[in-house]
Amino acid sequence: MGKIGLVSTDFDGTLIVHRLGEKCVPELADSLLGAREAGAKWAINTGRSLEHSVEGITLFCGPYLPDFLLVNERHIFKRNGTRWEADEKWNSLCDLRHKKLFEGATVFMERLRGWARCEKGVTLLPMGETPLGIVTTDEEVMARVADFLDEELTAHPEFSYQRNAIYLRFSHKDYSKGSALAHLAETLRVEREQVFAIGDHFNDLPMLDPEVAGLLACPANSIDAVKRAVSGAGGYVARGEAGSGTAESIRFFLAR
Ligand SMILES: [Mg+2]
Repeated sequence: MGKIGLVSTDFDGTLIVHRLGEKCVPELADSLLGAREAGAKWAINTGRSLEHSVEGITLFCGPYLPDFLLVNERHIFKRNGTRWEADEKWNSLCDLRHKKLFEGATVFMERLRGWARCEKGVTLLPMGETPLGIVTTDEEVMARVADFLDEELTAHPEFSYQRNAIYLRFSHKDYSKGSALAHLAETLRVEREQVFAIGDHFNDLPMLDPEVAGLLACPANSIDAVKRAVSGAGGYVARGEAGSGTAESIRFFLAR
């Protein structure tokens, strides 16, 4: 195994910008092939659902299919040919713990519903048996939501959320892109120092953590909080945006 044993890339904003029909840029295809030749496995680590991720990688037309899809910021799927097989043990425990978490959070959910009714631009996503999250009209409104939640959740230490632009998903504090990646690396017996992670937004922060990945990077279009986290941990802040920045970052760590 080379310098990179496992590549974990966010999808939106990291492999692609957000243009309709955008495909893998040639330099990214080269870098991913270089990483694979050096012995690295590739996981796309995203807030997208499995279905939406599969749709995304089909349009993306990368140089090969990723070995793993880490979706919903918590579930793990392994590729077998062109099929995606669940990590049953991890995913079912994850679902069970979320079910229990939401069952025990009815008072908090009531308070949230009450607050959201009086706030402009805040929409709660299906809050039936499995509360999903929140969507807002813009990122400023999302910042207000985050302030509200940060205060409310001090009373619910197990409750957390993953935030990405105007979307927010509720989660158990033990589940994030970071814990999913750490579990995958452990399963693959890849040392933390050989785990490369790159992302651009708030929901990437749990994997852009030196406790999870030793090789950290972010593309130039990342939010400031991500750039600060990556540079603060001695990682690489790329000059290029999205796919070009990811290509540059992989090249940087492969050459080091
Ligand atoms: Mg992103």
